[in-house]
Amino acid sequence: MTAAPPADVAARATAGFRQRYGGEPAGRWAAPGRVNLIGEHTDYNDGFVLPFALPLRTVVAATSRNDARWTVWSELDAAPVEFGPADVDEPGRVTGWAAYVAGVVWALRAAGHTVPGARLAVASDVPVGAGLSSSAAIEAAVLAALVDLGGLHLPTDRWPRLAQRAENDYVGAPTGIMDQSAVIRGRSGHALLLDCRTEEIEQIPFDLALAGLAMLVIDSRAPHRHADGEYAARRRSCERAARTLGVPALRDVNITDLDAALPKLPDDETRRRVRHVVTEDQRVLDTAVLLRAGLIGDVGPLLTASHASMRDDFEITVPEVDIAVEAALAAGAYGARMTGGGFGGCVLALIEASAADAVAAAVATAYAERGFAAPGPVTVFPTGGVTRLD
Ligand code: ADP
Ligand code: MG
Repeated sequence: MTAAPPADVAARATAGFRQRYGGEPAGRWAAPGRVNLIGEHTDYNDGFVLPFALPLRTVVAATSRNDARWTVWSELDAAPVEFGPADVDEPGRVTGWAAYVAGVVWALRAAGHTVPGARLAVASDVPVGAGLSSSAAIEAAVLAALVDLGGLHLPTDRWPRLAQRAENDYVGAPTGIMDQSAVIRGRSGHALLLDCRTEEIEQIPFDLALAGLAMLVIDSRAPHRHADGEYAARRRSCERAARTLGVPALRDVNITDLDAALPKLPDDETRRRVRHVVTEDQRVLDTAVLLRAGLIGDVGPLLTASHASMRDDFEITVPEVDIAVEAALAAGAYGARMTGGGFGGCVLALIEASAADAVAAAVATAYAERGFAAPGPVTVFPTGGVTRLD
Protein backbone atom coordinates (compact mmCIF):
# COMPACT_ATOMS: atom_id res chain seq x y z
CA MET A 1 0.00 0.00 0.00
CA THR A 2 1.33 3.47 -0.84
CA ALA A 3 0.91 6.35 1.57
CA ALA A 4 -1.53 9.12 0.63
CA PRO A 5 0.25 12.10 -0.99
CA PRO A 6 0.84 15.13 1.27
CA ALA A 7 -1.79 17.86 1.18
CA ASP A 8 0.60 20.72 0.46
CA VAL A 9 1.27 21.17 -3.25
CA ALA A 10 5.01 21.82 -2.87
CA ALA A 11 5.35 18.73 -0.67
CA ARG A 12 3.47 16.70 -3.30
CA ALA A 13 5.90 17.85 -6.01
CA THR A 14 8.84 16.81 -3.83
CA ALA A 15 7.26 13.47 -2.91
CA GLY A 16 6.54 12.80 -6.58
CA PHE A 17 10.11 13.69 -7.49
CA ARG A 18 11.59 11.33 -4.86
CA GLN A 19 9.30 8.49 -5.83
CA ARG A 20 9.90 8.74 -9.61
CA TYR A 21 13.54 9.68 -9.74
CA GLY A 22 15.05 8.97 -6.32
CA GLY A 23 17.15 11.61 -4.54
CA GLU A 24 16.30 15.23 -3.88
CA PRO A 25 15.32 17.93 -6.38
CA ALA A 26 17.81 20.75 -6.94
CA GLY A 27 15.00 23.23 -6.42
CA ARG A 28 11.28 23.90 -6.56
CA TRP A 29 9.53 26.57 -8.60
CA ALA A 30 5.93 27.72 -8.20
CA ALA A 31 3.60 29.58 -10.55
CA PRO A 32 0.04 30.69 -9.75
CA GLY A 33 -3.16 30.31 -11.68
CA ARG A 34 -4.90 33.54 -12.61
CA VAL A 35 -8.36 34.94 -12.92
CA ASN A 36 -9.48 37.84 -15.05
CA LEU A 37 -11.17 40.51 -12.95
CA ILE A 38 -12.70 42.12 -16.02
CA GLY A 39 -12.14 42.38 -19.80
CA GLU A 40 -13.56 39.37 -21.65
CA HIS A 41 -12.95 38.77 -25.38
CA THR A 42 -11.15 42.11 -25.49
CA ASP A 43 -7.69 40.54 -25.89
CA TYR A 44 -7.91 39.54 -29.56
CA ASN A 45 -9.57 42.88 -30.27
CA ASP A 46 -6.32 44.59 -29.19
CA GLY A 47 -8.02 45.88 -26.04
CA PHE A 48 -7.58 45.75 -22.28
CA VAL A 49 -7.71 43.02 -19.63
CA LEU A 50 -7.23 43.13 -15.86
CA PRO A 51 -6.20 39.73 -14.47
CA PHE A 52 -4.62 38.88 -11.13
CA ALA A 53 -2.57 35.91 -9.91
CA LEU A 54 -4.26 33.45 -7.55
CA PRO A 55 -3.16 31.75 -4.34
CA LEU A 56 -3.52 28.40 -6.15
CA ARG A 57 -0.20 27.17 -7.49
CA THR A 58 1.54 24.69 -9.73
CA VAL A 59 4.86 23.54 -8.32
CA VAL A 60 7.71 21.94 -10.27
CA ALA A 61 10.45 20.06 -8.41
CA ALA A 62 13.40 19.53 -10.74
CA THR A 63 17.01 18.69 -11.23
CA SER A 64 19.22 18.91 -14.29
CA ARG A 65 20.79 15.87 -15.94
CA ASN A 66 23.90 15.47 -18.03
CA ASP A 67 22.28 14.33 -21.26
CA ALA A 68 19.97 16.57 -23.30
CA ARG A 69 16.79 14.70 -22.43
CA TRP A 70 13.74 15.69 -20.42
CA THR A 71 11.63 13.45 -18.22
CA VAL A 72 8.48 14.88 -16.75
CA TRP A 73 5.94 13.44 -14.36
CA SER A 74 2.70 15.05 -13.25
CA GLU A 75 0.40 13.86 -10.51
CA LEU A 76 -2.37 14.05 -13.15
CA ASP A 77 -0.88 11.05 -14.96
CA ALA A 78 0.67 7.85 -13.62
CA ALA A 79 3.41 7.48 -16.20
CA PRO A 80 6.29 9.93 -16.72
CA VAL A 81 6.92 11.16 -20.26
CA GLU A 82 10.42 11.37 -21.70
CA PHE A 83 11.54 13.23 -24.79
CA GLY A 84 14.73 14.42 -26.49
CA PRO A 85 15.81 17.24 -28.81
CA ALA A 86 14.41 15.59 -31.96
CA ASP A 87 10.93 15.41 -30.35
CA VAL A 88 11.15 18.95 -29.09
CA ASP A 89 12.30 20.50 -32.34
CA GLU A 90 9.29 19.25 -34.24
CA PRO A 91 6.09 20.68 -32.76
CA GLY A 92 3.45 17.96 -32.57
CA ARG A 93 5.79 15.07 -31.66
CA VAL A 94 5.13 15.35 -27.93
CA THR A 95 1.37 15.31 -27.41
CA GLY A 96 -1.02 15.49 -24.46
CA TRP A 97 -0.18 17.38 -21.29
CA ALA A 98 3.59 16.89 -21.71
CA ALA A 99 3.38 19.11 -24.82
CA TYR A 100 3.11 22.09 -22.46
CA VAL A 101 6.52 21.14 -21.04
CA ALA A 102 8.09 20.22 -24.39
CA GLY A 103 6.71 23.51 -25.75
CA VAL A 104 8.67 25.50 -23.19
CA VAL A 105 11.87 23.61 -24.04
CA TRP A 106 11.14 24.20 -27.73
CA ALA A 107 10.49 27.94 -27.27
CA LEU A 108 13.73 28.36 -25.29
CA ARG A 109 15.73 26.49 -27.92
CA ALA A 110 14.05 28.46 -30.72
CA ALA A 111 15.15 31.66 -28.96
CA GLY A 112 18.74 30.41 -29.06
CA HIS A 113 19.18 29.13 -25.51
CA THR A 114 21.00 25.94 -24.53
CA VAL A 115 18.41 24.20 -22.40
CA PRO A 116 19.72 21.78 -19.77
CA GLY A 117 18.32 18.26 -19.74
CA ALA A 118 16.11 17.85 -16.69
CA ARG A 119 13.93 15.61 -14.55
CA LEU A 120 10.76 17.37 -13.49
CA ALA A 121 7.88 16.49 -11.17
CA VAL A 122 4.71 18.58 -11.31
CA ALA A 123 1.98 18.99 -8.70
CA SER A 124 -0.82 21.53 -8.86
CA ASP A 125 -3.70 23.05 -6.96
CA VAL A 126 -4.90 24.93 -10.05
CA PRO A 127 -7.95 23.10 -11.38
CA VAL A 128 -7.40 21.99 -14.97
CA GLY A 129 -9.68 23.41 -17.65
CA ALA A 130 -11.68 25.60 -15.25
CA GLY A 131 -10.47 28.82 -16.87
CA LEU A 132 -7.96 29.59 -14.12
CA SER A 133 -5.04 29.01 -16.47
CA SER A 134 -3.44 25.83 -15.26
CA SER A 135 -1.74 25.87 -18.68
CA ALA A 136 0.14 29.13 -18.10
CA ALA A 137 0.96 27.99 -14.56
CA ILE A 138 2.71 24.83 -15.73
CA GLU A 139 4.46 26.73 -18.52
CA ALA A 140 5.74 29.42 -16.16
CA ALA A 141 6.89 27.01 -13.45
CA VAL A 142 8.74 24.83 -15.99
CA LEU A 143 10.26 27.90 -17.63
CA ALA A 144 11.52 29.23 -14.29
CA ALA A 145 13.01 25.84 -13.45
CA LEU A 146 14.85 25.51 -16.78
CA VAL A 147 16.14 29.10 -16.72
CA ASP A 148 17.56 28.60 -13.22
CA LEU A 149 18.94 25.10 -13.77
CA GLY A 150 20.65 26.20 -16.99
CA GLY A 151 21.79 29.58 -15.67
CA LEU A 152 20.16 31.08 -18.76
CA HIS A 153 20.22 34.81 -19.29
CA LEU A 154 16.58 35.65 -19.86
CA PRO A 155 15.02 38.67 -18.14
CA THR A 156 11.51 37.95 -16.79
CA ASP A 157 9.86 40.58 -18.98
CA ARG A 158 10.58 38.24 -21.90
CA TRP A 159 9.06 35.19 -20.25
CA PRO A 160 5.38 35.82 -21.08
CA ARG A 161 6.01 35.95 -24.82
CA LEU A 162 8.13 32.82 -24.66
CA ALA A 163 5.55 30.83 -22.68
CA GLN A 164 2.85 32.05 -25.07
CA ARG A 165 4.87 30.74 -28.02
CA ALA A 166 5.09 27.36 -26.29
CA GLU A 167 1.30 27.23 -26.07
CA ASN A 168 0.52 28.75 -29.49
CA ASP A 169 3.18 27.15 -31.65
CA TYR A 170 4.05 23.87 -29.90
CA VAL A 171 0.82 22.85 -28.17
CA GLY A 172 -1.24 24.53 -30.89
CA ALA A 173 -3.65 26.44 -28.64
CA PRO A 174 -4.33 29.93 -30.01
CA THR A 175 -4.30 32.01 -26.80
CA GLY A 176 -3.38 35.64 -26.20
CA ILE A 177 -0.68 36.85 -23.83
CA MET A 178 -2.90 37.61 -20.83
CA ASP A 179 -2.51 34.31 -18.97
CA GLN A 180 1.25 34.18 -19.16
CA SER A 181 1.59 37.87 -18.26
CA ALA A 182 -0.59 37.43 -15.17
CA VAL A 183 1.09 34.32 -13.81
CA ILE A 184 4.60 35.63 -14.49
CA ARG A 185 4.28 39.32 -13.70
CA GLY A 186 1.45 39.31 -11.13
CA ARG A 187 2.16 41.18 -7.92
CA SER A 188 0.73 40.57 -4.46
CA GLY A 189 -2.13 42.97 -3.66
CA HIS A 190 -2.35 44.15 -7.29
CA ALA A 191 -4.21 43.43 -10.49
CA LEU A 192 -2.35 43.70 -13.80
CA LEU A 193 -3.74 46.12 -16.37
CA LEU A 194 -2.55 44.81 -19.71
CA ASP A 195 -2.87 46.64 -23.00
CA CYS A 196 -3.07 43.73 -25.42
CA ARG A 197 -1.95 45.88 -28.37
CA THR A 198 1.20 47.42 -26.91
CA GLU A 199 1.75 44.77 -24.21
CA GLU A 200 2.27 47.61 -21.77
CA ILE A 201 1.41 46.67 -18.20
CA GLU A 202 0.45 48.64 -15.13
CA GLN A 203 0.28 47.23 -11.61
CA ILE A 204 -3.02 48.47 -10.18
CA PRO A 205 -3.50 48.37 -6.37
CA PHE A 206 -6.13 45.76 -5.53
CA ASP A 207 -5.80 44.95 -1.85
CA LEU A 208 -9.05 43.19 -1.02
CA ALA A 209 -8.12 42.40 2.59
CA LEU A 210 -7.28 46.03 3.34
CA ALA A 211 -10.75 47.00 2.13
CA GLY A 212 -12.46 44.29 4.21
CA LEU A 213 -13.54 42.60 0.98
CA ALA A 214 -13.05 39.19 -0.55
CA MET A 215 -13.35 37.61 -3.97
CA LEU A 216 -15.13 34.34 -4.35
CA VAL A 217 -14.27 32.17 -7.35
CA ILE A 218 -17.06 29.72 -8.05
CA ASP A 219 -16.34 26.88 -10.46
CA SER A 220 -19.65 26.47 -12.31
CA ARG A 221 -18.68 22.89 -13.23
CA ALA A 222 -20.68 23.40 -16.43
CA PRO A 223 -19.43 21.17 -19.22
CA HIS A 224 -17.78 23.32 -21.91
CA ARG A 225 -20.24 22.86 -24.77
CA HIS A 226 -19.01 23.90 -28.23
CA ALA A 227 -16.61 26.39 -26.63
CA ASP A 228 -13.94 26.19 -29.35
CA GLY A 229 -16.30 26.67 -32.29
CA GLU A 230 -18.17 29.48 -30.57
CA TYR A 231 -14.90 31.22 -29.68
CA ALA A 232 -13.77 31.07 -33.31
CA ALA A 233 -17.14 32.42 -34.46
CA ARG A 234 -16.99 35.39 -32.04
CA ARG A 235 -13.46 36.15 -33.13
CA ARG A 236 -14.38 36.09 -36.82
CA SER A 237 -17.39 38.29 -36.19
CA CYS A 238 -15.25 40.89 -34.41
CA GLU A 239 -12.58 40.86 -37.10
CA ARG A 240 -15.19 41.26 -39.86
CA ALA A 241 -16.82 44.12 -37.97
CA ALA A 242 -13.48 45.92 -37.59
CA ARG A 243 -12.93 45.63 -41.35
CA THR A 244 -16.41 46.98 -42.04
CA LEU A 245 -15.76 49.92 -39.74
CA GLY A 246 -12.35 50.55 -41.34
CA VAL A 247 -10.33 50.17 -38.12
CA PRO A 248 -7.42 47.81 -37.38
CA ALA A 249 -9.29 46.31 -34.40
CA LEU A 250 -12.41 46.99 -32.33
CA ARG A 251 -10.20 48.58 -29.70
CA ASP A 252 -10.07 51.54 -32.06
CA VAL A 253 -13.80 52.15 -31.71
CA ASN A 254 -14.07 54.60 -28.85
CA ILE A 255 -17.07 54.39 -26.53
CA THR A 256 -18.08 57.88 -27.65
CA ASP A 257 -18.10 56.71 -31.30
CA LEU A 258 -20.16 53.60 -30.61
CA ASP A 259 -23.58 55.04 -31.44
CA ALA A 260 -22.31 56.31 -34.77
CA ALA A 261 -20.55 53.02 -35.56
CA LEU A 262 -23.40 50.58 -34.85
CA PRO A 263 -25.67 51.53 -37.79
CA LYS A 264 -22.80 50.83 -40.20
CA LEU A 265 -22.83 47.14 -39.21
CA PRO A 266 -24.79 44.63 -41.27
CA ASP A 267 -27.03 42.96 -38.69
CA ASP A 268 -28.25 43.04 -35.12
CA GLU A 269 -26.03 40.17 -34.01
CA THR A 270 -22.85 41.91 -35.20
CA ARG A 271 -24.00 45.14 -33.56
CA ARG A 272 -24.38 43.34 -30.24
CA ARG A 273 -20.98 41.68 -30.56
CA VAL A 274 -19.32 45.04 -31.19
CA ARG A 275 -21.24 46.71 -28.39
CA HIS A 276 -19.94 44.08 -25.96
CA VAL A 277 -16.31 44.57 -26.94
CA VAL A 278 -16.39 48.37 -26.96
CA THR A 279 -18.27 48.69 -23.67
CA GLU A 280 -16.15 45.96 -22.06
CA ASP A 281 -12.93 47.81 -22.91
CA GLN A 282 -14.42 50.88 -21.28
CA ARG A 283 -15.43 48.89 -18.20
CA VAL A 284 -11.83 47.67 -17.81
CA LEU A 285 -10.54 51.24 -17.94
CA ASP A 286 -13.27 52.43 -15.55
CA THR A 287 -12.39 49.60 -13.15
CA ALA A 288 -8.73 50.65 -13.23
CA VAL A 289 -9.71 54.24 -12.41
CA LEU A 290 -11.72 53.11 -9.37
CA LEU A 291 -8.97 50.77 -8.15
CA ARG A 292 -6.30 53.44 -8.48
CA ALA A 293 -8.52 55.58 -6.22
CA GLY A 294 -8.82 52.72 -3.73
CA LEU A 295 -12.57 52.32 -4.35
CA ILE A 296 -12.66 48.54 -4.66
CA GLY A 297 -16.28 48.07 -3.55
CA ASP A 298 -17.43 50.49 -6.26
CA VAL A 299 -16.17 48.08 -8.93
CA GLY A 300 -19.13 45.75 -8.24
CA PRO A 301 -21.62 47.28 -10.71
CA LEU A 302 -19.00 47.15 -13.49
CA LEU A 303 -18.54 43.42 -12.90
CA THR A 304 -22.28 42.84 -13.03
CA ALA A 305 -22.61 44.98 -16.16
CA SER A 306 -19.83 42.92 -17.76
CA HIS A 307 -21.82 39.78 -17.06
CA ALA A 308 -25.01 41.21 -18.56
CA SER A 309 -23.06 42.21 -21.66
CA MET A 310 -21.61 38.70 -22.03
CA ARG A 311 -25.03 37.16 -21.50
CA ASP A 312 -27.15 39.41 -23.73
CA ASP A 313 -24.78 40.90 -26.31
CA PHE A 314 -21.91 38.45 -26.69
CA GLU A 315 -24.05 35.40 -25.84
CA ILE A 316 -21.32 33.35 -24.23
CA THR A 317 -22.86 32.47 -20.87
CA VAL A 318 -24.72 29.28 -19.91
CA PRO A 319 -27.47 28.73 -17.30
CA GLU A 320 -24.99 27.51 -14.66
CA VAL A 321 -22.99 30.76 -14.69
CA ASP A 322 -26.08 32.97 -14.94
CA ILE A 323 -27.60 31.23 -11.92
CA ALA A 324 -24.38 31.56 -9.90
CA VAL A 325 -24.22 35.30 -10.67
CA GLU A 326 -27.88 35.83 -9.77
CA ALA A 327 -27.61 33.87 -6.53
CA ALA A 328 -24.43 35.68 -5.47
CA LEU A 329 -26.02 39.09 -6.12
CA ALA A 330 -29.19 38.12 -4.28
CA ALA A 331 -27.04 37.08 -1.31
CA GLY A 332 -25.47 40.53 -1.16
CA ALA A 333 -22.41 40.42 -3.46
CA TYR A 334 -21.27 43.88 -4.65
CA GLY A 335 -20.93 42.50 -8.14
CA ALA A 336 -20.53 39.19 -9.96
CA ARG A 337 -19.61 37.97 -13.42
CA MET A 338 -18.52 34.99 -15.39
CA THR A 339 -14.77 35.10 -16.01
CA GLY A 340 -12.97 33.47 -18.92
CA GLY A 341 -13.89 32.72 -22.50
CA GLY A 342 -17.40 31.48 -21.75
CA PHE A 343 -19.71 28.47 -22.05
CA GLY A 344 -18.87 27.41 -18.50
CA GLY A 345 -15.83 28.06 -16.33
CA CYS A 346 -15.83 30.19 -13.21
CA VAL A 347 -17.86 33.03 -11.74
CA LEU A 348 -16.29 35.82 -9.69
CA ALA A 349 -18.21 37.47 -6.87
CA LEU A 350 -16.93 40.56 -5.05
CA ILE A 351 -18.18 40.31 -1.48
CA GLU A 352 -17.82 41.58 2.05
CA ALA A 353 -15.07 39.42 3.63
CA SER A 354 -17.48 38.16 6.27
CA ALA A 355 -20.07 37.10 3.66
CA ALA A 356 -18.05 34.30 1.99
CA ASP A 357 -19.90 31.42 3.63
CA ALA A 358 -23.35 32.96 3.11
CA VAL A 359 -22.76 33.69 -0.59
CA ALA A 360 -21.24 30.27 -1.20
CA ALA A 361 -24.22 28.64 0.52
CA ALA A 362 -26.70 30.69 -1.55
CA VAL A 363 -25.07 29.56 -4.79
CA ALA A 364 -24.98 25.93 -3.59
CA THR A 365 -28.69 26.08 -2.77
CA ALA A 366 -29.56 27.58 -6.16
CA TYR A 367 -27.55 24.82 -7.86
CA ALA A 368 -29.14 22.06 -5.80
CA GLU A 369 -32.64 23.34 -6.68
CA ARG A 370 -31.84 22.99 -10.37
CA GLY A 371 -29.98 19.69 -10.11
CA PHE A 372 -26.63 21.21 -11.23
CA ALA A 373 -23.38 19.62 -10.05
CA ALA A 374 -22.28 21.22 -6.76
CA PRO A 375 -20.23 24.39 -7.44
CA GLY A 376 -16.70 24.67 -6.05
CA PRO A 377 -16.33 28.07 -4.35
CA VAL A 378 -12.94 29.28 -3.06
CA THR A 379 -11.95 32.65 -1.63
CA VAL A 380 -8.99 34.20 -3.44
CA PHE A 381 -6.80 37.29 -3.28
CA PRO A 382 -4.14 38.69 -5.62
CA THR A 383 -0.74 37.10 -5.13
CA GLY A 384 2.69 37.36 -6.73
CA GLY A 385 3.76 35.66 -9.96
CA VAL A 386 6.14 32.77 -10.61
CA THR A 387 8.89 32.32 -8.07
CA ARG A 388 11.59 29.93 -6.88
CA LEU A 389 10.64 28.34 -3.56
CA ASP A 390 13.98 26.88 -2.49
P1 ADP B 1 -6.83 26.06 -18.27
O1 ADP B 1 -5.56 26.74 -18.62
O2 ADP B 1 -8.00 26.98 -18.26
O3 ADP B 1 -6.75 25.27 -17.00
P2 ADP B 1 -6.25 24.70 -20.72
O4 ADP B 1 -7.05 23.80 -21.57
O5 ADP B 1 -5.70 25.93 -21.31
O6 ADP B 1 -7.13 25.01 -19.43
O7 ADP B 1 -5.00 23.91 -20.13
C1 ADP B 1 -5.20 22.70 -19.46
C2 ADP B 1 -4.17 21.70 -19.92
O8 ADP B 1 -2.86 22.09 -19.45
C3 ADP B 1 -4.40 20.33 -19.33
O9 ADP B 1 -5.31 19.59 -20.10
C4 ADP B 1 -2.99 19.74 -19.38
O10 ADP B 1 -2.71 19.29 -20.68
C5 ADP B 1 -2.12 20.94 -19.07
N1 ADP B 1 -1.83 21.03 -17.63
C6 ADP B 1 -2.19 22.02 -16.81
N2 ADP B 1 -1.76 21.78 -15.54
C7 ADP B 1 -1.14 20.59 -15.57
C8 ADP B 1 -0.48 19.77 -14.58
N3 ADP B 1 -0.41 20.14 -13.31
N4 ADP B 1 0.04 18.60 -15.01
C9 ADP B 1 -0.03 18.23 -16.28
N5 ADP B 1 -0.63 18.96 -17.24
C10 ADP B 1 -1.18 20.12 -16.91
MG1 MG C 1 -5.16 27.73 -20.46
